[in-house]
Amino acid sequence: MAHGCLPAPNPGQTFWQQEGNNEFSDYRSTEALPAHTDILVIGAGYAGTSTAYHLLAEGTKTSITILDARGVCSGATGRNGGHLRPDLYGHIPTYIDRAGLEAAAEVAEFEIAHVPALKKFVREQGIDCDFNLCRSIDVWCNEQAAQKAKAVYEQMTAYGLSYMEDVIFYSGKEAEGISGVKGAKAAASYTAASLWPYKFIIHLTKLILASGQVNLQTNTPATSIQPASQGGFMIETPRGNIHADKIIHANNAYVSGLLPEYAKNIIPCKGIACHIAVPDGAKAPLLNNSYINRTDDNNLSYLIGRSDGSIVVGGASAKFKPFRDQWYNNVDDSILIDAANDYYHDYMQKTYHGWEDSGAAISKIWSGVMGYSYDSHPHIGSVPNKLGQYVIAGFNGHGMPVIWLSTKGLAKMIAHDVPFEQSGIPRLFQSSQARIDRAQNGSEEDGDILGTGSFPATKQ
Ligand SMILES: Cc1cc2nc3c(=O)[nH]c(=O)nc-3n(C[C@H](O)[C@H](O)[C@H](O)COP(=O)(O)OP(=O)(O)OC[C@H]3O[C@@H](n4cnc5c(N)ncnc54)[C@H](O)[C@@H]3O)c2cc1C
Repeated sequence: MAHGCLPAPNPGQTFWQQEGNNEFSDYRSTEALPAHTDILVIGAGYAGTSTAYHLLAEGTKTSITILDARGVCSGATGRNGGHLRPDLYGHIPTYIDRAGLEAAAEVAEFEIAHVPALKKFVREQGIDCDFNLCRSIDVWCNEQAAQKAKAVYEQMTAYGLSYMEDVIFYSGKEAEGISGVKGAKAAASYTAASLWPYKFIIHLTKLILASGQVNLQTNTPATSIQPASQGGFMIETPRGNIHADKIIHANNAYVSGLLPEYAKNIIPCKGIACHIAVPDGAKAPLLNNSYINRTDDNNLSYLIGRSDGSIVVGGASAKFKPFRDQWYNNVDDSILIDAANDYYHDYMQKTYHGWEDSGAAISKIWSGVMGYSYDSHPHIGSVPNKLGQYVIAGFNGHGMPVIWLSTKGLAKMIAHDVPFEQSGIPRLFQSSQARIDRAQNGSEEDGDILGTGSFPATKQ
């Protein structure tokens, strides 16, 4: 297994993982690992849990075992910003340049479809996860960046993309008034959502376990995979081996540990987020929208307002990007990121009108590990040249508007042999030897992670 490609043993706790809601942090359906499973899912985050859910929803009668190196939802999903925000124009112009309007619009439309799909699912299932439909407000405080954003908005509208009708763009004083952000030079808003990701995944876990078809084994890392003499695969864990007919690699940032061909495609990179609360009795304006704020010096933060008046905010990657060892190819979510630890200290006071005397302070701060993709797209589908193995990984800081329908498509492929092209997943997400080779043969600086053109953390 590639060095460092297992989760760190003791991650710091997040706001989402509170005492009393962590019943699957140390859970095993059976005392011993089953000797055989039809399908083995590696990773019990959003991608793994949701793939299992959709396999069952597709009516599969096969046995499913899920392994997680730590607890359920202990990876990026339990450590993120809770922002379910499709990308309508941030990276889409780059995708248009690279792959054409149709392929790029397919990505935007797929992400947009996540908002109503999850709203419907949460309502139908009665999931208590603070799902909130909102407007996501993009804010630019730097004049030059504001002008560039306006040009992008006009260009995207000129393409005639119907989804752009949901976007409203504001310039000048109006931007500051609409957003409430001090010094805003431009703002834009469109439909998005926020939720409590950990509660959502815990609910999903209960649903899949209730099927009786799923065996969940936490604190059980998969450490190697070998072809088995009887066909299928033998997967090694510190608790013994398990035989599987099919394997789904849903371990995101850590995928190259078992699939070294992805070592240059999906890199574990750290990010930081925190929960900010106002002291009892103090008052601050309720933020009932979500935000992407860019400061005058172009540092980006993603932020959601919660109904209790508290805030979850993260980002600040421009602060730590120069200190590569603190975030790049780094899986240690037991420590924060030195270069950005203090950034959110008085963030609300200095950013929002009306918060100056709120006493708002960080109640919890944490880091998390994302799987950054060389070309910004996740790798989904069959692992090239490895029949019977599937991958769904590399979601950057942007899994919430991508994973649900991707796992639905992947489940169709696995349960009913549906070809990728008919799975409903955007074509740019398909894992392929060509994409693998591009990262393997290119320099790190040619990719989106370290390249100057785009930086996946800024997607949120
Ligand atoms: C600080 C931060 C903020 C973010 N904010 C947002 C946001 O606001 N909106 C958004 O859309 N996205 C956000 N993201 C990104 C988002 O959280 C991820 O894209 C998404 O959660 C990925 O889900 P996943 O299931 O693929 O990965 P994970 O949730 O990381 O799950 C992978 C699982 O695999 C397990 N695992 C790893 N290796 C092995 C192994 N060998 N054997 C067994 N198990 C293994 C891990 O323990 C883990 O539980 C953020 C991420 C971070 C870190």
